[in-house]
Amino acid sequence: MTVALSDTWFARERLAPDLTRLWEPFVHSFFQANIFHLRGRDADLVLDFGMGLASLRDALDVTPGKPVLAVASHGHVDHVGSFHEFERRFGHAAEQAAFAEMRDGETLAALFRDIDEAVTQLPAPAWRAADFSLTPAPLTTLLTEGDSLDLGNARLHVLHLPGHSPGSIGLLDEHDGLFFSGDAIYRGGLVDDVPGADRTVYRQTMERLAQLDVAVAHGGHGASMDRATMQAIARGYLRDGDGER
Ligand SMILES: [Zn+2]
Ligand SMILES: [Zn+2]
Repeated sequence: MTVALSDTWFARERLAPDLTRLWEPFVHSFFQANIFHLRGRDADLVLDFGMGLASLRDALDVTPGKPVLAVASHGHVDHVGSFHEFERRFGHAAEQAAFAEMRDGETLAALFRDIDEAVTQLPAPAWRAADFSLTPAPLTTLLTEGDSLDLGNARLHVLHLPGHSPGSIGLLDEHDGLFFSGDAIYRGGLVDDVPGADRTVYRQTMERLAQLDVAVAHGGHGASMDRATMQAIARGYLRDGDGER
């Protein structure tokens, strides 16, 4: 197996002049999560942090000295790998212990350690999935429903969207309808059967998402959704207990 150059570990796509999506193309598709970098006037927002197999901090184009607000949508392994590389770490209070300790029971890291073909290219010579572990990243700011993050020219409101995990959050800019939904909703099979998931609570979140007025929703996995697509996925879950396949 070849070793990927560190500067090509992340793939990236410019979604808007101030918004970039990054992902890890050599990671098993089940663990290939979206990372978003939103450049604000006074501060940048980075949402989610991949597997931590290569430095995300080094891969990001951040103006030196500009504050970076690092927000984890939830504590699963595919979203928190490079969280510890950032100084100002935000996440929901319900998963505070998970971020601080990064234990398998909450991060589900063992699923990655045990999966066949965890990567298609090595992040470093002699890298082995069996040795994989996450670095603890205690939150420096606890988020709850109604909190907001100020980037100077944009304000993102925190929506608590539990069900997939207890502390799943979304971020919504109510001014322009930009919505980051984490793993609460995305294109693809939704996960409600892992430890920490709660289907009853997830249905309440889906009721909310089925009504939520957004312009565009960027999910934790897969391509972005317009409002109609997102609401249809939410209604599909409420009807069938399933996402888009
Ligand atoms: Zn997840
Ligand atoms: Zn995920």
